[in-house]
Amino acid sequence: MQISESKRLFAHAKTVIPGGVNSPVRAFRAVGGDPIFISKADGAYLYDADGNAYIEMINSWGPMILGHNHPLIREAVIKAMESGTSFGAPTAREVEIAALIVNMVPSVEKVRMVNSGTEATMSAIRVARGYTGRDKFIKLEGHYHGHGDSFLIAAGSGAITMGNPDSPGVTSGTAKDTLLAPYNDLQAIENLVVANDGEIAALILEPVPGNMGLCLPDPGYLQGLRDICTREGIVLIFDEVMTGFRLAKGGAQELFGVIPDMTTMGKIIGGGMPVGAYGGKKEIMEFVSPAGPVYQAGTLSGNPIAMAAGLTMLDYLDTHPEVYSRLNEIGMQIASGISSINQSLGLDFTINQLGSMYSLFFTQESVTDFESAKTSDTALFGKYFQAMLHRGVYLAPSQFESLFLSTALSDDLIGKILQAHEESMKEIIS
Ligand SMILES: *Cc1c(COP(=O)(O)O)cnc(C)c1O
Repeated sequence: MQISESKRLFAHAKTVIPGGVNSPVRAFRAVGGDPIFISKADGAYLYDADGNAYIEMINSWGPMILGHNHPLIREAVIKAMESGTSFGAPTAREVEIAALIVNMVPSVEKVRMVNSGTEATMSAIRVARGYTGRDKFIKLEGHYHGHGDSFLIAAGSGAITMGNPDSPGVTSGTAKDTLLAPYNDLQAIENLVVANDGEIAALILEPVPGNMGLCLPDPGYLQGLRDICTREGIVLIFDEVMTGFRLAKGGAQELFGVIPDMTTMGKIIGGGMPVGAYGGKKEIMEFVSPAGPVYQAGTLSGNPIAMAAGLTMLDYLDTHPEVYSRLNEIGMQIASGISSINQSLGLDFTINQLGSMYSLFFTQESVTDFESAKTSDTALFGKYFQAMLHRGVYLAPSQFESLFLSTALSDDLIGKILQAHEESMKEIIS
């Protein structure tokens, strides 16, 4: 595999962009080697600057749930562009997408569009604070909610991958209002509630965390959180930036039947354009300016091109329930294929999978939280990543990420992925 053009671009990039990339995990630091520069994508494939093709297992970290360059979304974007790219004034499409989100996501009665998942979570916490008149909030270890200051404490995703889950630049004043607890531990939440009686505005979590690798909620855990928050008047926020419109059309809250007070969304909601959203109960969302006193704004929020892409994506998912049964099938085929190959090779591993998300961890422990995720052999993961890349399969370049499958994966391609997996594992252990 020739990657000379990627190498040339990366060398130049490092002279003009910090670390050569605009988001840290892309630099491949955790897996070694130089990053691949992408020139185009179509269906199940990515193509790099040297003309190599790769089967996609990340799909832009989630948005491309129907595969890349989907004709419906492409046409919607082109058509919207013919009428201008930004107005900074309300449009009909914003009303349409808001109504669709309210209809699809159980907890959402009103919704505000923003430009990224980071903006969605930052705004949701501000609104929860304004609504409750309390300052502190609980976040869970290894969960990632974008790069807002108050979330960069025991943060997942690139923050763990780069070895700095607590970022310099976050003041101790900010950090003291973020309370931490492990995932899947209700008693830890009860303890925080007692120790900070009447001071906790919100509890935010990824209901099915994907940013420390994929973990699943223990039976009763999400309902347990719901009960504590209801009892204590704490705003329960599900960060469904990853899981929304992916695990089910109404996200993890629909799948598990636990309804939060607020929900943050991103990734799929923009159909590949930069979009985020936060929404929830009417009485909470009425606190958002100009309906209420909590300020939040955006020059490009509700951008007509982004809304055209997002609306087309959500409308498709809303009207094609077979997408979800197919995604489940694809996820199960890949996870069970990997499991049986690894078992036959006598490897220590854990695989967590739900629908079209999965993570393969190189550890014999079951992975249920940040501590157990960190028992993985990340050096082995790096070798596995490179071996797969060499065979034309593009995995997330970190142990602490989920993979995101798309409907563009045919049975034939699943066979190719499993064959690459078997060859890669044999090569690594030989
Ligand atoms: C990706 C992600 C975010 C941040 O979204 P950006 O669009 O990258 O700012 C927030 N929360 C979760 C759960 C995410 O996976």
